[in-house]
Order: sequence, then C-alpha cells, then structure tokens
Amino acid sequence: MAELRLPRLLQSAVALYRRVAGASGRSARPAGSPHSPAISRRSAQRDAHRAVPGGRVLARIHLVALALLLGAPLVQAQIVSTRIWPAKDYTRVTLESKSEIKYEVFTVKNPDRLVVDLEGIEYSAAIAELNNKVAAGDPYIDKLRAGRNRPGVVRLVLDLKTEVKAQAFTLKPIGEYGHRLVLDLYPLVPPDPLAALIEAAGKQPRPEETPIAGEVTRPDKPKVARMATIVIDPGHGGEDPGARGRRGSLEKEITLTIARRLKAMIDAEPNMRALLTRDADYYVPLQVRVDKARRVKADLFVSVHADAFIKPHARGSSVFALSERRATSEAARWLAKKENEADLVGGVNIDVKDKYLAQTLLDLSQTATIDHSLRLGNSVLGELGQVNTLHKAHVEQASFAVLKSPDIPSILVETAFISNPDEEKRLNDDAYQDKLARAILSGIKRYLAKHPPRPSPIAMR
Ligand SMILES: [Zn+2]
Repeated sequence: MAELRLPRLLQSAVALYRRVAGASGRSARPAGSPHSPAISRRSAQRDAHRAVPGGRVLARIHLVALALLLGAPLVQAQIVSTRIWPAKDYTRVTLESKSEIKYEVFTVKNPDRLVVDLEGIEYSAAIAELNNKVAAGDPYIDKLRAGRNRPGVVRLVLDLKTEVKAQAFTLKPIGEYGHRLVLDLYPLVPPDPLAALIEAAGKQPRPEETPIAGEVTRPDKPKVARMATIVIDPGHGGEDPGARGRRGSLEKEITLTIARRLKAMIDAEPNMRALLTRDADYYVPLQVRVDKARRVKADLFVSVHADAFIKPHARGSSVFALSERRATSEAARWLAKKENEADLVGGVNIDVKDKYLAQTLLDLSQTATIDHSLRLGNSVLGELGQVNTLHKAHVEQASFAVLKSPDIPSILVETAFISNPDEEKRLNDDAYQDKLARAILSGIKRYLAKHPPRPSPIAMR
C-alpha cells in the first residue's frame, strides 16, 4: 500500500541510524504498523534529536537520516498527468499516477456537483492544471476545482452543467500509461444515434417502397428499396491514440479526418446516409461501436484504421473481415490482437463491457454476414488498389471485436501504414485522404449495386 511504504523507509532509516549511533532503549516499530505517517515522523524526529554522534561518518548518516525524515513528503503518491475528453456521449476525466489511486466519489445536489477525494495523494502541478483543462464546450462539466482538503487528501469538485450518471473505475498500467483513475460522466438519457443520424444528414428516410417478395436479393434486378445506412467507425480516439507515425501523426486523428470525408461523400449520395461512431476525440469501446451500428439498423459497417506494423517497411492498404475460426495469416492475427487491445488502452469499465458483450453475443450464425463482409471487402479492396499498393491482394480474416455484428456486413480498412514514413506523409495529405475516402465510397457503391439494402434490415431485433 502506498502510504505504508514511506513510513517503512523512515523506520529503516531510523533503525540504521540507531544501529550506527548506538541508540537503544526503544525498539523500532514493526514494518507496516498502522501508525499514521505523521506519528512515525514525529517519533523519529525525537529519536534523531536525542542521540548526537561524535564521529564524522555518524554525523553524515545523521544528516541523511534527518533529510529523509524532514524533507520527505508524508504522502508520496502523485498524480503525474491529467486529461479531459469531452464528448456528447460522455465526458471522461483521467488521472494518472505511478501507483494505484485510492479514491472516493460522491455527488452533491443543488447545484449538481461531483466530488472526488483522492486519498494519499499530494497536491501537484498536474492536479492544479485540471482547473484550466475544462473546455468551454464540455457538455457536462462547467468548472473543476481541485485543492488540498485535509492532510493526505486532495479533493476535486466538478461543477456540473446537468445531472449526470457518473462511473469511476481504475485501470492497470498498459503501454505507456501508468495507473489510471477514470471518471466517466454520462447523460441520464443517452443521445439516440438514430435521431443524430437523421438530424445530421438533414434528410428524412424515404418511405419504403413495395417490399421485395420474400426479402430475397435479386442481383439481376437491382432495386433500391430504401436508403442505405452506412456506419463509419474512425478507429481509436481519446485515451487510445492508436498507432503513432515517426513524424508524430496519430492514427486516431487520421482515421477521424478520413472518416469525416467519407461521411460527407456518402451523405451527398441520393440513396445513402452515414453515421460516425465518434465525431470527436474520445474513446468509444469496441462493443459500443458495434452497438451503435445495430441501433441505427445499419446496412454496412466500415471501420477505418491506419496502423503501425511490426516491420517498418510494410506498406499498402488492406481490408479485413471477421473470422469465426482462425486468422487467415499470422499478420492478421497479430493485428486483430492489437486492435482488440484498444479497449485496454482506451479504458473500458468492465461492468459496462460485459453488458454490451452479453447483448451482442446472443447471435445466430454469423456465416451469412461474413460472406457479405467478404464481398463488401473485395469491392473496397479493388477500389483501394487504384489509389495505393495493396498489402495483400485478398481480404484477410481474423477475430476483430469491432466486426462482430451478427447481422451487419462489417469490414476494417487499413488505409495505409502510419509506421511507413512515405505512407505517413501521404496520410496527412488532404488530396490523398480524399482519394482514399472516394475509393472506399466506390467500393461500397459497387457492393450496394449488387446487393441493394433489403426493404427491412436483416436484423432480428
Ligand atoms: Zn488501428
């Protein structure tokens, strides 16, 4: 436990001092005794003052011990960095420390506030910075005040713009992150992606035409029965930056810009509309991405990425579909594992994750959906081949969590490798981003020409 570590250090310093100085009479406290750090410090100071050694070496040790006793902070745990990710879906506050963060959270009403007590934490610059990190447009936090509340406790008070559902949880170190305490502030009524879809596109769904008999696709007689809804999923976001290029580009930013371009192109088509799983810099758990697509009864799901690869010279675009069994290649397996770890980096509350998982896994066979994912993937891959070299000439398959909708053909497009310096440069180029987006659009259109959306979606909801 964090608080006990320093007293123990103090005790061993005192014990060492006593051994060397010959001080006796009182035994050192056992390590890990429940005495508060303040008590340990006071008694240790008394000990240090009582015995005055004569030798130079002893004097030096004496000084070291004193410095340790007087100079060392009583609570050593520190918040080393803080981040706030505001978004309509939820606002996340992240506090990061080198050791586990102990905390208590409670809400206060009239006006609505969220109070977080950080125990055994020293007030530090990173905490002070939080006061200025609240964005004006934050949907949930109005102001944030942080200060020392009582010895060893730092209190954060979040003045809220509205009543929220708050969730607090800790995350273990992963990648470049240490221990994290995460506070998620959700609206009481979650935003409805379908309403957002209709509003954002500025188009009302067309009244459905006469249903095609038996809901059988007839490629010989393509007929658009209704508007096709495409969910575009910009990979990563917020706490999870995704891959990083050598020139500092972040995958999460590139995926969002390409996805926005693609959305604009889709919305400009007469019979298509698009929804982004995220339209800001915040993390959306993989299952939530799938869930959003299902809630809007999406016809297709396209996840956009620009990953790094084991080999820096790897280049080219690739397209992936779900595999229920084995990955089609070692690289596909490796990449799927890395993508699925996004939840660990981005930070998912286990309770919430399980809820979504349970919901999505009551599926039937995914075989038919995977077959259509491969067809969609082939169309998109063919178009990407016109604007970039292909990493693999066929659609690869692996167990990507984000592709697990049982009823929506889903693909993951690796636009290019951000780890390849040439490709990183191009990924930042407006014209090239446009080309990539247009190639994905053409692939989607080619697929839809052969497999128009059914009068009512396949889903069994
Ligand atoms: Zn990625």
